[in-house]
Amino acid sequence: MSLTVMKFGGTSVASVERLQKVADKVIKKKEAGHQVIVVVSAMGKTTDALVSMASEISSRPSKREMDVLLSTGEQVTIALLSMVLVERGYDAVSFTGWQAGIKTEAVHENARIASIDTSLIRPQLKKGSIVIVAGFQGVTEDSEITTLGRGGSDTSAVAIAAAFGARRCEIYTDVTGVFTTDPRYVNKARKLQEISYDEMLELAYLGAGVLHPRAVEYAKNSHLELVVCSSFSDEEGTVIKEEVSMEKTKSVRGLAFEKNVTKVTLLGLPNSVEAVSRVFDAIAAKHINIDVIVQNVLDEARTSLSFTVDHDVLNETLDVLREQEKELEYHQMIFESELAKVSIVGSGMASNPGVAAQMFHALSARDIKVKMISTSEIKVSTIIDESKLIEALDTLHETFHLAEEESVSL
Ligand code: ADP
Ligand code: ASP
Ligand code: MG
Repeated sequence: MSLTVMKFGGTSVASVERLQKVADKVIKKKEAGHQVIVVVSAMGKTTDALVSMASEISSRPSKREMDVLLSTGEQVTIALLSMVLVERGYDAVSFTGWQAGIKTEAVHENARIASIDTSLIRPQLKKGSIVIVAGFQGVTEDSEITTLGRGGSDTSAVAIAAAFGARRCEIYTDVTGVFTTDPRYVNKARKLQEISYDEMLELAYLGAGVLHPRAVEYAKNSHLELVVCSSFSDEEGTVIKEEVSMEKTKSVRGLAFEKNVTKVTLLGLPNSVEAVSRVFDAIAAKHINIDVIVQNVLDEARTSLSFTVDHDVLNETLDVLREQEKELEYHQMIFESELAKVSIVGSGMASNPGVAAQMFHALSARDIKVKMISTSEIKVSTIIDESKLIEALDTLHETFHLAEEESVSL
């Protein structure tokens, strides 16, 4: 009998009424003869509400306690969904992450899954029960509760699917699939029928919140077919897999963006690799992630270094740099907030050198200043003013013909 893993996100399980709709989909799958494992998120905005309560108590709550707190959200959903299914005459049983044998590394708030002991759930599947597992959570070797990072239930679902040898993992959400960009920001965004792992991975890392990046990484590594579809309709979703047969002619497959970006610049830094390394070492020591980096050599002796950080960690970043002003030997530090990162992504880009130029032309035609640039084989990212974000997305969507079906070539 084939096993299917179905994952339902926060909006999809936001109320008891929604849980009944989720149950309809789960029952349909079960009746079609599948073994079913359901992975769920916390209901609605529960996780946000828990985060906000913690922040009323402390500006730096303990990461361990945050994990104990946030993991409660998913535990509510599993029990309620199980009750709904049992009321409807089906055998269903709920498992927290630790009951399901989901072991993680010993890192709070952003742990990676290390292993899954499938022997704990298998007997239930064998007996025909629908198994419901709490997403986003696991446990360390030392029995500490951990969470996988915001949006991490996708990753739980894919990891479970891989561990149980399922060939397919279905992610049910509040949109009908993966679009050319976030449909909440660009009305003309178009649903993609298929997208490759590499393109999806890039989009997810660059901010497309529809899938947790690690979920795509795990799916790619285990050659698992990942489907993103709606929990609100029966419309066909998007398939994420190795090779994409359609739209091969397009250089750009989609746009991703991140808001809340801040650029920090150190002026008058000594012009040496050691001096630049010292800056990054100091920041890394505080576990602060930096993103786009640009260095401008001013003369033989001095250089200026700019990099971006998420606005949430700006104060921490400035504190570190101020504390070490003497050792780092810079003359002045400035920063600029309210920026956004806009990226174009597509594997066709690697063989089409004009794409970056097309992007810059399109942005400059709208008077949108590009403040920083970063590229890889399959993406170009630009840092712009956040106030210009929607305009930039619209113009890039247009420039790269993303609203049009696959017959268009660039
Ligand atoms: P869930 O709670 O089901 O995990 P999320 O809010 O995490 O749902 O992800 C779905 C949301 O992702 C959509 O509502 C949409 O606004 C956003 N999104 C961002 N980029 C994309 C994209 N390229 N395609 C579809 N949705 C996207
Ligand atoms: N509930 C968690 C969050 O809101 C995990 C998830 O929904 O995937 O981030
Ligand atoms: Mg999500």
